[in-house]
Amino acid sequence: MIQIKLFIEISRLDCTFVTETSKEIIRLEWFFTSIKNNVMSHKAGFVNIIGNPNVGKSTLMNAFVGERLSIITSKAQTTRHRILGIVNGEDFQLILSDTPGIIKPAYEMQESMMNFVKSAFEDADILIYMVEIGEQELKDEAFFNKIIHSKIPVLLLLNKIDNSNQEQLESQVAFWKEKVPNAEIYPISALQNFNVPEVFQRIISLLPESPAYYPKDQLTDKPERFFVNETIREKILLNYSKEIPYAVEIVTEEFFEDENIIRIRSLIMVERDTQKGIIIGHKGAALKKVGMDARADLEKFFGKQIHLELYVKVNKNWRSNTNMLKRFGYNQ
Ligand code: GDP
Ligand code: MG
Repeated sequence: MIQIKLFIEISRLDCTFVTETSKEIIRLEWFFTSIKNNVMSHKAGFVNIIGNPNVGKSTLMNAFVGERLSIITSKAQTTRHRILGIVNGEDFQLILSDTPGIIKPAYEMQESMMNFVKSAFEDADILIYMVEIGEQELKDEAFFNKIIHSKIPVLLLLNKIDNSNQEQLESQVAFWKEKVPNAEIYPISALQNFNVPEVFQRIISLLPESPAYYPKDQLTDKPERFFVNETIREKILLNYSKEIPYAVEIVTEEFFEDENIIRIRSLIMVERDTQKGIIIGHKGAALKKVGMDARADLEKFFGKQIHLELYVKVNKNWRSNTNMLKRFGYNQ
């Protein structure tokens, strides 16, 4: 028993991805304690959101959590990591995973991104498969097969119905019913919160009986610096075109929090000298714009004044460099 307890403590401390075994042990221990005390009233579980790029996965996760945890843009591959968003209630804990959109990897960073998607299949209690109006199935057949043969509940969310009419909606629902017969289908608009509360209630009802996996005041698994990096990256996605945003990685090197102000210094890394010039812009104007936009969002996110210093550095081919990728949290 002491051994099991110790193992549970370790897995709680280190549970970015809770393994099936540690999940079962946590549940078992809780189950026996509950029987002893004659109560059984808490639900918790992992709900993982997967789907093609740009269908609205991050928008949904933020809507559920009520915070802007995942960055959102109209460009594909905005999300590069697996990000947990935790929704806590008195008698439930819902652990959502937002994942990168499913793509065929072209370089090492994208392979790591797809490993995050794979891991999302492994520890899910409920799978959310998100598609958007007009879409005709997943690009990757292996992932699609995993979904249709899933042993756990699958909710297929047909998103962006604000962009459709009744006729299109009906034909899309019929199409997905046939493609993914094991799924419950919900038409939603993540952006306009249409049907989102109903889906949330359905998820809660499907959650297994379990104690909480994370402290009840925890909102995510990612540290503050991660959100700084992501906010800056979002502004780069919004302010530059073509391949520039995809060649960029952000490293926040300093994060000092005082009572009233947070002082941050972040490095914007690019792959080539020409990209460095474009990021900085004429007389530094482009970089200044990124800094101002990011600072405004960070002040909202942290609720404090922000001092943000940005600088740019060239690091050739970081996207294919295993050591670099490890440092940036892609390879685990
Ligand atoms: P992800 O790549 O799947 O995470 O998608 P995002 O959440 O980043 O959203 C991609 C784009 O679709 C953004 O421009 C969103 O504003 C937009 N979007 C998300 N949900 C909806 C929706 O319900 N309706 C409409 N019209 N747009 C949406
Ligand atoms: Mg996303």
